[in-house]
Amino acid sequence: ARYERWFEEHCASSRAAGRDAADLIPGGTHHSQANIPFPLQIDRAAGPHLWDADGNRYIDFVQGVGASLLGANNETVREKVKAVLDECGPSLGLLHRYEIALARTVREFMPAVQRLRMTASGTEAAMAAVRVARAYTGAAYVVKLGGAYHGWSDQLAYGLNAPGTARRSAGGIPEQAQALTQEVPPGDVDALRSLLSANAERGGTAAVIVEPLGPQSGTFPFAPDYLEAVQESCRSFGALFVVDEVITGFRLGLGGAHEQLGLSPDLLIFGKCIAGGYPAAGALGGRADVMATIGSGTGASALVVGTLSANPLSCAAGYHSLLEMARTDAPARAASAGALLRAGLERLIAKYQLPYVAYNFGSIVHLHTSGLYQLSVTQPDFASQLATRREAMIHLIEGFTAEGLMLSGSGRMFVGATHTDQVVADALDRFDRVFASVRP
Ligand code: PLP
Repeated sequence: ARYERWFEEHCASSRAAGRDAADLIPGGTHHSQANIPFPLQIDRAAGPHLWDADGNRYIDFVQGVGASLLGANNETVREKVKAVLDECGPSLGLLHRYEIALARTVREFMPAVQRLRMTASGTEAAMAAVRVARAYTGAAYVVKLGGAYHGWSDQLAYGLNAPGTARRSAGGIPEQAQALTQEVPPGDVDALRSLLSANAERGGTAAVIVEPLGPQSGTFPFAPDYLEAVQESCRSFGALFVVDEVITGFRLGLGGAHEQLGLSPDLLIFGKCIAGGYPAAGALGGRADVMATIGSGTGASALVVGTLSANPLSCAAGYHSLLEMARTDAPARAASAGALLRAGLERLIAKYQLPYVAYNFGSIVHLHTSGLYQLSVTQPDFASQLATRREAMIHLIEGFTAEGLMLSGSGRMFVGATHTDQVVADALDRFDRVFASVRP
C-alpha cells in the first residue's frame, strides 16, 4: 500500500497489459516470479537490466530464472544464434553439428557426463532421469527430498509426499501417479537408509535425486557431509545417484556443483544455463553404460525423444554460451558479485536490525525475511511458517519493484557476470531505501 501511488503513476501500460492477460491467460501470466501487485510487462533486457512497457528500468535478479549467467541477451551468443537461424532455422528434427559440439564441450567441463541427451526442458530431463534409472536398475521406486523441486512432472512435482506437509499444487495428479515416488526429509541420512532398506524388500530403488545445494537452490541447506552419505547409501543399495544441476550446472562453476562438492553422480540433469537461457532446452547426462539404455529409441530401450529436443538453435546457444562463460571466467565473476551483494545485504540487515537473513552460494543469493531459513519440512508447522515467510516477502516485493529492483517472491536472487561492482552498489542503495521504509 505504501507504494500504491508509485504503481498508479508509473505502470499504466503494465496495468493494462495485466488486465488483458488476466482475461486470456490462466493466472494472468505464465511466470510466477515477481508479479506484485500485478505482473510487469517486460519489453527489453540487456545485461543486468530490464525495462518494462512503461519505460521503467530495473536491476534484474531473476536473470531468466537463473538461466542467464552471462547477463540478459549476451551479444556474442546472440550473433552466433542468428547465424544458425540464417543457415538452417530453429529446428530440423535431424542431427546437427551443434548437438555434437555441445555434448563434447559439456563432457570436457564435466567428465561425469560421458553421454548427453538433450531434452526440451529441465522438467523433461528429470522425467528422463527417472525413466533411464528404472530401465537400468529394473527397480521402480524413486526417492526425492522433501521441499525439492525437479520440475512439474507427475512423478516429481514437489512437496506432494513431504512428511508434515499437505499436498501442494497437487491438482490433476492422482495419488497413484506418485505411488512410486517417495520423499525423505532433507539432511536425514537415517531416514533415507531405512527407506532404501525397506525398498530392497520390494524390488529396490531406481534412483535418489537431489539438488546439490539443498531443496530450492539451498533455501534448505544441508550439513556438508550429507550428500556424500546419500551417494554412499545409493551405492550400497544399488540405486542410481542423480544430481539435479538445472540451477547449479555451469552457474556455480563450469564443472558443476557436483565437482565442487566432490560427488560422482551416475546421472545429472541440466536446463537453463546449458542453453544460455535459449529455448527449448534441458539435458540428461551421465555414465555411458546407464545412458546406453536410451539407445536409438528402438527395441527395449528407454524412450527419451522430442521434436524440439537438440534443436540447432538451443544447441548453438548452449555451445557458444559455455565457450563465452569459460573465456570470460563468468561463473567466478558472478560469484564475486554474489558475495558482494550478500555482504551488502547483511550490512543493511544489521543497520536496520531486521529479522532477515542473507547468504549465498556463488551467484545464487538468498534473502529470507523471517530468519526461518533453517526451517525444516519435518517441523509440524512447516507449511504455516513458510506462508508467514512468503507474506513478509510480498510486502517487500512492492517496495523493491518501485525502487527498480526485480526479485522473485521466493527471496532467491540470481546475479550474473554483468552485475558489476557498480551495479551491485546501485542495487544496495535501492535495498537501503526499501529496508529503511520497513517497520520491524
Ligand atoms: N530442477 C530444478 C532444481 C529447477 O529449479 C527447475 C526449474 O526451475 C527444474 C528442475 C525444471 O526445469 P524447467 O523449468 O526447465 O522445466
